[in-house]
Amino acid sequence: LTPIPFYLAPILIILLQSWLFQCPAVVPRCMWGARPYRGTPSALKPPLPFVYIHHTYEPGAPCRTFAACAGAMRAMQRFHQDARGWDDIGYRRVPGCRGSPPPQGWVGVSSAVVAPLRGGPPPPAECPAVVPRCMWGARPYRGTPSALKPPLPFVYIHHTYEPGAPCRTFAACAGAMRAMQRFHQDARGWDDIGYSFVVGSDGYLYEGRGWRWVGAHTRGYNRRGYGVGYVGDYTASPPDAHALALVRDAFLPCAVRAGRLRPDYALRGHRQMGHTECPGDSLFREIETWRGFQASGAASSAPVHSET
Ligand SMILES: [Zn+2]
Repeated sequence: LTPIPFYLAPILIILLQSWLFQCPAVVPRCMWGARPYRGTPSALKPPLPFVYIHHTYEPGAPCRTFAACAGAMRAMQRFHQDARGWDDIGYRRVPGCRGSPPPQGWVGVSSAVVAPLRGGPPPPAECPAVVPRCMWGARPYRGTPSALKPPLPFVYIHHTYEPGAPCRTFAACAGAMRAMQRFHQDARGWDDIGYSFVVGSDGYLYEGRGWRWVGAHTRGYNRRGYGVGYVGDYTASPPDAHALALVRDAFLPCAVRAGRLRPDYALRGHRQMGHTECPGDSLFREIETWRGFQASGAASSAPVHSET
C-alpha cells in the first residue's frame, strides 16, 4: 500500500469537503434548544444497513417555520424524556451526513446561550454551512443589538491578526471565536465579537453578529456592510485556497441570492476604510482580484456606531 503523496493532501481535503457539503443542512441540537442527553449514549458503528421511516403522529401537523419545528423538537424531547423515561428524543439525525460539524458533545453550551440571537431559519441549502453561535460556545450579546437593513451595499474583508495562525479544526476555530469574543467584550468593551462572519481554514464560516445585527468591524461603516474576518495573520502569505474560495465563490454569491447583499455590492479591505494594515498585504492582493472589489477613492460618509 503506497502512502498518499504529501502534495495531494490539500486536493483530497477539498474533494472530500465538496462531497460532504452535498448533505442537506442539519439544524444542530443547540439551535432548536435541546436539553442535554441523559446518561451515556451508545455509539453507532456506521455504515449501517438499515433506515427506518417514521411519522411523529404527535405533533400531528407539519411544521413550516423554524420556530414551529424547533418547538416540535423540544416538545417531543420533553415527552420522550419525561413521560417515556428515555435518555433523549428518540429519532436520530442521519448518521454519516456531515453538512455541518458534529453537533453533539463538541462544545458544552446550554440553549440559553444562543437565545438572544436565535430565531432565524438555517441558511438555504446551497449556501456554505455557517457554524451557529451556539455551536462555538458564544456568550450572549450584551445590550440590545441594532438591526441592519439588507440588502447592504458593502462587504469589508479583515484578518484577525490575533489569533495569528489559521485554525484548521473545529475545536481550534471555535476556541478562536471564543477568545476573540472575550477580547472584544472584556478588553474593548464592545457588545459582542466585532465581525459579522469569521472564516476558518477548517472549511467553515462561523457566525459572529450574523446577517441581522450591526457589527463592530469597520469604524464608521458598520451599518453599511458586513465584516468578514479570516482567522490568521495574512501579511506574508495568503489564506488557504479553499478558504479564499469559500468566501469568493460560495458565501458572496449566496448573500446576493438571499437578498442580504446588493447584486452590485462593493468589496473592500479594511485598510481602505481606516488607518490599519488589515487584512494584511497578502490577503489584500488576493481580494483585489475578486468580483466586486472596489479600489480606494469612492468612500463616502456614513453614520458612526457608538461601539466603534
Ligand atoms: Zn480589520
